[in-house]
Amino acid sequence: MNDSTSSESRDFVRQIIDEDLRSGRCDGRIRTRFPPEPNGYLHIGHAKSICLNFGIAEEYGGLTNLRFDDTNPETESSEYVESIKEDIRWLGFDWGDRLYFASDYFDQLYEWAEQLIRDGRAYVCSLSLEEIRAGRGTPSEPGTDSPYRSRSVEENLDLFRRMKAGEFPEGAHVLRAKIDMAHPHMLMRDPIMYRIRHVEHHRTGRKWCIYPTYDYTHGQSDSLEKITHSICTLEFENHRPLYDWFCEALGIHHPRQIEFNRLNLTWTVMSKRRLLELVEGGHVNGWDDPRLPTLRGLRRRGCTPAAIRSLCARVGVTKHNAVTDMVVLENCIREDLNKTAERRMAVLDPIRVVLTNYPEDQEELLEAVNNPEDESAGTRMVPFSRELWLERDDFMEDPPKKFFRLAPGREVRLRYAYFIRCENVVHDSDGRVIELHCTVDPDTRGGTAPDGRRVKATLHWVSARHAVSAEVRLYDHLFSVEHPDEVADESQDWKSNLNPDSLRVVPEAWLEPSLADAMPGDRFQFERLGYFCVDPDSSDEKKVFNRTVTLRDAWARARKK
Ligand code: ATP
Ligand code: MG
Repeated sequence: MNDSTSSESRDFVRQIIDEDLRSGRCDGRIRTRFPPEPNGYLHIGHAKSICLNFGIAEEYGGLTNLRFDDTNPETESSEYVESIKEDIRWLGFDWGDRLYFASDYFDQLYEWAEQLIRDGRAYVCSLSLEEIRAGRGTPSEPGTDSPYRSRSVEENLDLFRRMKAGEFPEGAHVLRAKIDMAHPHMLMRDPIMYRIRHVEHHRTGRKWCIYPTYDYTHGQSDSLEKITHSICTLEFENHRPLYDWFCEALGIHHPRQIEFNRLNLTWTVMSKRRLLELVEGGHVNGWDDPRLPTLRGLRRRGCTPAAIRSLCARVGVTKHNAVTDMVVLENCIREDLNKTAERRMAVLDPIRVVLTNYPEDQEELLEAVNNPEDESAGTRMVPFSRELWLERDDFMEDPPKKFFRLAPGREVRLRYAYFIRCENVVHDSDGRVIELHCTVDPDTRGGTAPDGRRVKATLHWVSARHAVSAEVRLYDHLFSVEHPDEVADESQDWKSNLNPDSLRVVPEAWLEPSLADAMPGDRFQFERLGYFCVDPDSSDEKKVFNRTVTLRDAWARARKK
């Protein structure tokens, strides 16, 4: 194990930054940014980028900007802007007063475009988009020059100004960078800088009818904000020469771009486009559906910001795309909630138990520990009475050898309460077990027998008379295949692998009465059942709980069998 703090244990991004600081490349200044496009809600993949950009700035005493790359007015909206801001804050990061929008730079970008035209480095092309695509060639064959490539500076300026003035319909012209149609990088073959779009922008309204492309905007936005390290995902590696070309052609500062691998998880999809399709197609109940990997969904499910930050730290950054097992996220959630979630008792699939020797009118309060991992969480009192709810699968009428829980004639411990013995089983006319008659040993209060006799199981329970009813939502993976992005063949729809059993609703579970006051967002461990979080659908009349995760990796257990 190498647990030294030398450069070997630092990831490659931090090593590059260390080196830049040593060599004085960035004047000892660190400025990063998180640049979302406001065309959807954030997912846990974005969290990795947020943790990296904000985390690095914090570690090096630098700052991080939040900048919306809002260059596609058709798909973007202020609703997304607001949700993204809220989700970043929820995750625990703060951009202070450094909130920017690429659309704030539209005037400057336009000026620069005219400058490139005057320098003979950009031209108005009047081919259709299909013709432009066809003329681009292939990675192994060079493209062909556009017939408009040799337009004069005057003609280009005139046409570009008239594009801006709204004289042309969409698709009539575009502005292209004049680089090299035979360049080995396809992206460098005279890429498009501006296109005509007669649409309203969520911030600039109707001011513009030409919009800059992402590639023409991104690098200069970083430059204007004096970003020192532009940290992005691997797919932008081949855009780097283009960003460099624009900054060099304009003679402006350009940051060092560092690419890292995206976060992907098994059993789900991560691209915003696919998430949007699931939401709009009604396959899930909105962006905050607890089955989605969106930050909203994870939050509603009961996942904590600390668990997400811990996942991001654990997976680290590399130069290779890979898929992280969902179990890693679930374990991060368990580790965090184990320390912070108070324990409660709840019964999801109830069977009634009558303690025949416990007086009808008697009840008592028993002390229960709130969190064995955290003494400061204290204790609470749980009511006990003659009729209880137990979990149906904690009883077997004809148990196999390895079943140690309740069975006819057998004694078990009730958590924080007494030993009880099953004396009699009541069936309905179909032979289904509907009630158990048990006796309680009053000398075992608190869970130990004075004669030292032992039991093999401790069960959770809820006093029937005091119980609070709740709906409980149990989740399974959203997809029934591990890699839903990889469909067998092109004709197969990736949505065909959605898991029909990803949500199971328990309409009536029974909870101990202290949960009557639980508020949306509160998280608990239901003993032996998992971690649960109160859903925003919850009301005073009806409690609704989401299961966040089970207590152990249910899949590992299934594999062992
Ligand atoms: P998607 O492909 O899911 O639509 P995107 O890259 O188009 O995502 P942006 O809004 O452009 O979404 O992303 C903002 C930042 O988050 C970018 O710097 C991007 O590289 C980063 N990012 C997006 N997805 C991931 C991911 N899965 N893992 C790590 N970083 C990501
Ligand atoms: Mg993007």
